[in-house]
Order: sequence, then structure tokens, then C-alpha cells
Amino acid sequence: MKSYNGKIVFEGYAIDEIVVYSDEIEEHKRIFTTQQQEFTRFDVARKKAVVSFTELYIEATEKLGEKQADLFKTHRLMAEDLDFEDLVRANIAKQQVAEDAVTNAAEELSKMFLSLDDAYMKARAADVKEIGQTIVNILLGVDKLPQIVKPSILVCNDLPAAALMKFNRKLLNGVVLLKGNVNSHVAIFARTLEIPTIAAVDGLELDPSLNGKLAVVDATKGTLILEPDKKTIDKYDDLNDQYIQELLALKSFIGKPSITKDGFKLKVYANIASAYEVANVLKKDAEGVGLFRSEFIYLQSNDYPTEEMQYNYYKEVLEEMEGKEVVIRTFDIGADKKVFYFNLPYEENPALGFRSIRICRKRPDVLLTQLRALYRASMSGKLSIMIPMIVSEEEVIFVKKLCNQVKMEFMKEGVPFDKDVKLGIMIETPAAALISDRLAKHVDFFSIGTNDLSQYTLACDRLNSNLDDTFDPYHSAILKLIKLTIENAHKAGIPCGMCGELARDPHIIPFLAGLHIDEISCSSAYVLKVRKALSQIDTKKVNIDKYIK
Ligand code: PEP
Ligand code: MG
Repeated sequence: MKSYNGKIVFEGYAIDEIVVYSDEIEEHKRIFTTQQQEFTRFDVARKKAVVSFTELYIEATEKLGEKQADLFKTHRLMAEDLDFEDLVRANIAKQQVAEDAVTNAAEELSKMFLSLDDAYMKARAADVKEIGQTIVNILLGVDKLPQIVKPSILVCNDLPAAALMKFNRKLLNGVVLLKGNVNSHVAIFARTLEIPTIAAVDGLELDPSLNGKLAVVDATKGTLILEPDKKTIDKYDDLNDQYIQELLALKSFIGKPSITKDGFKLKVYANIASAYEVANVLKKDAEGVGLFRSEFIYLQSNDYPTEEMQYNYYKEVLEEMEGKEVVIRTFDIGADKKVFYFNLPYEENPALGFRSIRICRKRPDVLLTQLRALYRASMSGKLSIMIPMIVSEEEVIFVKKLCNQVKMEFMKEGVPFDKDVKLGIMIETPAAALISDRLAKHVDFFSIGTNDLSQYTLACDRLNSNLDDTFDPYHSAILKLIKLTIENAHKAGIPCGMCGELARDPHIIPFLAGLHIDEISCSSAYVLKVRKALSQIDTKKVNIDKYIK
């Protein structure tokens, strides 16, 4: 038995066997070679997929039973299907690279399945897409993600945020990011998905021999224990039971207003990155969505998501939220969220580089597609649009022009949209905070992004775990900028929220409530904790100056 210390990403316990993920995904765009070569690439990748489905079938039969394992048998048969092969061949004949040919063939077949009346056949639509994705991943060389087929703890150096979504959450009980950082997007995701996770573990190197070893993740203390003895296992079983009881007790805050002891009322919203998290948002009784990181739709696509695809996605989220506000942030691509089809240039300092609104100004067409999808979807619920990474008034004026262009086009085309959609910006750069008085005149609301605001104020790369001691979220420079932003918003008569990780910090919640922040948005997992914390605060007794020092 040996234990290692790391940093807490999301609290909780996991006692399971380790699955090692030992490689980073590399993304690159292919150029069409010849029909023969593209077909051979497809054929080789498909054969590999068939082998992997067969292996999965055998493994799953052993561990999960015949019934559940059957899925992999179906996948293997479908991958070998001649109709699928014909479609891929036809697409390659149209000069599509193997990756696109497979994606489009899978899309076509999936639509065909969906159009059938039989429920069993309809369900095959999702299967064919998954098979297509597996083959594409092999073609792109990103097939190294391990398959998780039983309750496990994933151990890796770091993980692309989108990859975390690909695992079956029900089987992923814990994550250890040996070299990862608590402020990265994968860390935010782990919190959203409520996976007990630790990062930046001292003294442990990634090694394939960890595979299959029993481990305990104590993410309440940031500890990983390898090969625990019986006494330790029993202790953690008890702690886990106790922890679950505490979570259950929080349920008494469901249905209660978010209000301080002295009667100051605000909104507690949730942050999400995908439609499938909405159920959790509602379960945790969040009053709305304060940050929908829409870039994850782009990260999971193999090409620019179309207006129609995005429209359907936003519509689904808005409908499911049943009239509660949903703040959708326009895509924040760049920095640690790169998408290969954007063809972004190599940068020495990506966090200070070509990112979100900066890309939009050079490529307004991409933002226009998203805005069209958003305004169309606005008829399905209460939508607000939020722009990230603002540093100047010009950027806001630019976005407003595009919004007006979309609205004018829709009026001409007779496309309905909600005229009351609010437009807000994220205050996540010191520049934006310092000119928040001027920015407030252009927009309907602010939301403070403390993850980036901290990174840029302290000149600390949020992904660099060597800087954890310098990355002080309570630094008075950051708190002063927060105070200034909230005060400027209120002077201009607009609401100000916070969607960065600091928003759910029990040390900071009194400071925010004392400044009469209008909304706090955090991972669903923290919504009830924040509501409970608020109920214990008397805003009249908060000493704001003490925080700023
Ligand atoms: C932030 O920067 O605080 C924020 C909420 O945005 P993200 O973490 O997605 O950069
Ligand atoms: Mg940010």
C-alpha cells in the first residue's frame, strides 16, 4: 500500500481498479490521396474496429453478462455490413477523404434507421454513428482511449476535455490526472459530471503496470492510495457511505429560494457543456443555466457544426429547461480548446492568442452561423447570449452588429425569434473589468469568469501546475476587479453574475452576497451547497474591506 498526494478537483471517494490512459490525442486534417488509397485506409481501419468490437464482446460477456455484451456483437456485424461499405465507397468516389466518407456514410445510414417505424431499428441509428466514430478515430490515430467496461478509476497524465465525455459515466467512478491542473477544462468537466477527481499528483509516474491495480481515490483530501489493505478499504467504504448521507441531507434545499439569512435574494444557476447535463441541472434545482459552454459542440464535431445541427441542439436544451433562463456562451475555441478544422495557427502563448471573439472578428461567418441557430432556437425557451473574452467596446459593438444583421435577415425571411433575447458579456480579462463602466452601456448583463480573470490578472497560466502557489484566487487584485465589475454593472442598472469556479467557493460566497451579486453559476453538483451557504450569511455583517485587505 502506498499513498500519493495531489490536488482536489471534485470531492468524493472511489474504490476501484485502475484503467490507464497513456496517450494524448493528436488532431490533424487529411488531404485526399487517391480513391484506391482512401479505400484501403478505410478498409484497414474497419478491420481494426471489427477486432476491437470482438475483443470488447468477449470482455463484456465475462464482466457484464451476455445480454449487455450483445451490443458489441451488433457493432461488429454493422461495421462489416456491405451497405455501409458501399456508401463509404461512393463518398470516396466523390473525392472525400476516408474520415469524411465514413462520417457521412454513418450519418446517412443513421438517418435511414431513424426514418423506420420499428423501435429496434430506430435504436440502431445511434449504433451506426458510434461505429462510424470508432473507425474515424482509428483513421485519425485517436483510438487509444481505453474502453471502460466495469467500474473503474481512470489514471492518466492529462486528458482532453472532450475525451472525458466519451467514457461511460456510470462506470467511471474516479479520475486521477497525474499531471493535470485543477483549472483546466477537463477538471471543470469532471466537476460537472460529479466524478471524484484529483490532479497534479506528486511522485507518481504514469506506468502501464498500474492497469488493473486496486486503488482508492480520496478526493476530499486529494489522495490516491495504491493497493490499499483490507483495513483501509473498510475505512473508505464507511467514509463513502457517510459522504453519500451528507449529500442526501442537502436535498432539503431543493425547492427552497436562494436567499441569505437577512433576506437578500439572488439566483443560483448551473454551468453545463452539453444537453445531457440538463437533467442534472433540474435534479439539483438550479434556477437556470448561467453558462452553457457551447464550444463543446464544436469540439465533438469533425467539421463546423451546421446551423441546423446547432439549432436542434439549443432548442433541445431550451425546451428541457422549461422556460428557465439559459445563458449560452458563443464558442470559446482556442487556448486549451483547439479544434483541428478551425486550422488555427501554432502559437507560442495560446492563452494570450487567437481565441473566441478574436477568431470571430476574422471569421464572422462562423459566429453568424451560431447566432442564426441561437436566435432561431430562442422561440423554444428563455435564451440569453453571452460573449466570452471581451477586452474592448469595439468587440461588443462588432457582435451587436452581427446580432442585428441576423435579426434583420429573420424579419425579412419571416423567421420567428424572441425579441427579448438578452445579450451579455463575460468579464474575464482585467481590461474588461477595468472598463466595465463603459462596457455596461452596451449590454444587458455581465458574468464574471474568474478562471480566466485570475489567469490574466496574476499572469499565471491556469494549466501550469507549477504555478499553483502563485495562482491565488483570493488575491486582492482579483477581488478588487470583481467588486469594481459588480458595482459598475449596478450603477448602469444591469445585473452581474459570476460563472467562474470562484463563484461556488464558501470563502468567497459571503463577499459576493455582500456585494449583492445577482447570480451565482456553478457546476450542478454545487448548486445546493451554494444555496445552503447563502442561507447562513447575513450580508449586513459582511466586511467587504476585509476581503480586499
Ligand atoms: C472563466 O474563465 O471563468 C469561465 C467561466 O470560462 P472558461 O472556464 O470556460 O474559460
Ligand atoms: Mg473563460
